[in-house]
Amino acid sequence: MKKKILIVGAGFSGAVMARELAVTNNFEVLVVDERNHIAGNCYTARDGQTNIMEHVYGPHIFNTNNEVVWKYIQNFGEFIPYTNRVKAVTAKGIFSLPINLLTINQFFKTALNPSQAAAFMSAQGDSTIVDPQNFEEQALRLMGKDCYENFFKGYTIKQWGCDPKELPASILNRLPVRYSYDDNYYNSRFQGIPIDGYTAVVSNLLNHPQIKLKLNHKYTSEMNSHFDHVFYSGPLDAYFDFKLGRLGYRTIYFEKELHDGPDFQGNPVINYCEETVLYTRVHEHKHFTPWESHEQSIYFKEYSKETGPTDIPYYPKRLNTDKILLKKYRELAEGEKNVTFIGRLGTYRYMDMHHVIDEALKISSLFAAEAGSSDTFLKFFNTEDS
Ligand code: UDP
Repeated sequence: MKKKILIVGAGFSGAVMARELAVTNNFEVLVVDERNHIAGNCYTARDGQTNIMEHVYGPHIFNTNNEVVWKYIQNFGEFIPYTNRVKAVTAKGIFSLPINLLTINQFFKTALNPSQAAAFMSAQGDSTIVDPQNFEEQALRLMGKDCYENFFKGYTIKQWGCDPKELPASILNRLPVRYSYDDNYYNSRFQGIPIDGYTAVVSNLLNHPQIKLKLNHKYTSEMNSHFDHVFYSGPLDAYFDFKLGRLGYRTIYFEKELHDGPDFQGNPVINYCEETVLYTRVHEHKHFTPWESHEQSIYFKEYSKETGPTDIPYYPKRLNTDKILLKKYRELAEGEKNVTFIGRLGTYRYMDMHHVIDEALKISSLFAAEAGSSDTFLKFFNTEDS
């Protein structure tokens, strides 16, 4: 008899797990999601008025160095190459981001070449910081006070709602500093946006005779007993009814506006780095599909705040207090039977789409190789604690 698998959450983690277990032919999979749609926070839908493809929970640009993931995902939708070029509004003017040679030369009113810029930025950096312990130290070491205060400090305080000294240095490592005029936001080898949006990609992943999907279906732990194994991609603390307290998340919310003209801001994403401007960035969604044409435009002003009980969690904060709590929840999780925690929320890590797809592929192949011997199967694929 086929083993019965429950997957909680129809985002990329859950959808890839479902697909991979279904195609091995040994499993019957039920995917539940409490929302009324699939694709989690990657959900895209056409705006009713303009027909523009809207990134409903904020912009998602697929980018990865992982060729396996890149090839895999293209089985489920056509991706159009896309380069994200971001502009930053600062107290000193509008610049290109991530910091690159144009940013440096315009910001400091210089005309440096790559090697001169590298030497210049190294002199800007605080060389007394040898082993940066937090976001602020990392920024001061890398780019110095001027760049940190104009591009990062205000934005980061708004985005994370705390002192950048409390945040891990690794958050800054997401953004390169370049000594060339390359203004691509990402360094990844493969970058693109699905032609029909992310919802279509996830829908194709889930489209398999051995996968059943129930939307508007809230998971409860009583469901576990009806399945051989559960892969849970909801928030780890929610699984335990927050009994040890709440892990810190930032949530974002949007003010959506219609622009009655073809172009509101001339760029997909513009960041607002000053703390006095309350939103963090403005995204204009038609620019994510430059292959389409629309007479009007829609744009979202994005704000960030602490996640309350009814808000959607987005960014795991991972402050020191969170990490202590996370450890305790992990210990509780180890005591659970036949459950594996997956994805950004299930593992409380700052993962991008390609990370969760990569892990889901690895976890599903391990599980299939062990023929679903659920009792001994791992609770977490990655026990990294940082
Ligand atoms: N950041 C900033 N200013 C910017 C853009 C980013 O200070 O204009 C900081 C901010 O703390 C953010 C981090 O750099 O959380 C990583 O940026 P990224 O664009 O990777 O964030 P995400 O894509 O997750 O929103």
